[in-house]
Amino acid sequence: MSGPQNGLPALPQGVLELIARLERAGHPAYAVGGCVRDGLLGRPARDWDIGTAATPAQVSDLFDGDRVLPTGLPHGTVTLLLEGGPYEVTTFRMDGGYSDGRHPDRVTFVPELLPDLARRDFTVNAMALHPERGLIDPFGGRADLAAGLIRCVGEPRDRFAEDALRILRALRLAAELGFAVEDHTAKAALAQAESLCRVSPERLREELTRLLCGDHAAPVLARFAPILFTLIPELAPTVMQRQNTPHHHLDVWTHTLETLRNIPAEPALRLTMLLHDVGKPACRFTDAEGRDHFRGHAEAGLRMADRVLRRLRYENDTREQVLRLIRHHDLHTPPELPAVRRMLNRLGEPALRQLLLVQRADIMGKNPVGLADKLARIDGVEARLEQILAERLCWRRADLAVGGRELIAAGHRPGPALGALLDAMLHEVMAGRLPNEPQALLAWAGRPGGPLERPGP
Ligand code: ATP
Ligand code: MG
Repeated sequence: MSGPQNGLPALPQGVLELIARLERAGHPAYAVGGCVRDGLLGRPARDWDIGTAATPAQVSDLFDGDRVLPTGLPHGTVTLLLEGGPYEVTTFRMDGGYSDGRHPDRVTFVPELLPDLARRDFTVNAMALHPERGLIDPFGGRADLAAGLIRCVGEPRDRFAEDALRILRALRLAAELGFAVEDHTAKAALAQAESLCRVSPERLREELTRLLCGDHAAPVLARFAPILFTLIPELAPTVMQRQNTPHHHLDVWTHTLETLRNIPAEPALRLTMLLHDVGKPACRFTDAEGRDHFRGHAEAGLRMADRVLRRLRYENDTREQVLRLIRHHDLHTPPELPAVRRMLNRLGEPALRQLLLVQRADIMGKNPVGLADKLARIDGVEARLEQILAERLCWRRADLAVGGRELIAAGHRPGPALGALLDAMLHEVMAGRLPNEPQALLAWAGRPGGPLERPGP
């Protein structure tokens, strides 16, 4: 491993070997982009990108026999599955013309590093690191890293016109790194936000998810809300939407951002907070005393969220999680065993735990008056949940001490009525009115055909 020089990060052994192998064959090679940025920040790199003068064919030949994947040949990228990898090896290139605002019209491979750094989006992403030649930083990326600034390489207006996704990438990087967006870059991003509609939903989704999961998502979204609203116009009416209720002291948008700060950085949870109150503006009703009500906002909101998430091509599993959480976000389960068992039965353990996180975050964005009581209710529900699981209390059909088989053996007829009988039995057990013991359950179910046989619930 090369020792750090001038405070430069050391490159891992696998990267050093890769660079050495390319250079022995006469092709200059560097670590480039995000891994250099993260190394200088002392953060772990997400992936290792190597830039080289070698063409993709030359890279493939050189590593023939190793595991070589032609992941992005038109862009000059080959993925090498070597020890410590994967490594993305990309030929130095220049991007010519962007007539559609999303892809270069053509890519030209070039033998030098500099034009390759010049086509990159931000100064902090336009640095290269070499074990002997050190840091190559033609655009002042290291100074911007120290100042905490996201700044376009070159003229922001042109760079965003070439590829509008860079607008969202600027916000994503600011949210992940806790950086500010430099003034010219910020102005151009806001002015050109509309052009994001030309970018494919899949690329937008990728960056939006990372933006939302950034440690600094809330302040970035507060500053750049109009950019988010080009992707999700449904949220625009939440800005300045007052909530004249004792529960709230903030408008819906400011409340939404506050809840984002208080939820773990998981995509489904962050998306839920972003969208949980999107239905409120359409559902507002002000009564004779001037108090606002938002009845039905969870249902209305989940229909809107459904459209948003489909439009952005979120996978079904994420969409379903988010919709379930929005549907239940305003449902206040009392901290009592029967009610918590019913919630557990309805949602299952993982979703109920998610819901408690969502409800805590929601409360954290509400009026501080009354906050302690609201949080105590959530703590109570959670304590009951732990009790149910620890004591293995019955909360689903499978937990009942008798099942369909035993009922049939006792003479009950198979069929839908049997299922209804089991559900009614479960209901009684969860309510604490019936012990979960075979004899008691069979006695409660009654003799088939006898006076005790019960109809469904
Ligand atoms: P991370 O390490 O978190 O993945 P990253 O900066 O490496 O962040 P990638 O999407 O992996 O992001 O891109 C790798 C590099 O490619 C960037 O650092 C940047 O130099 C360049 N790049 C990526 N997307 C663009 C773009 N749309 N326009 C210009 N350069 C880009
Ligand atoms: Mg990367």
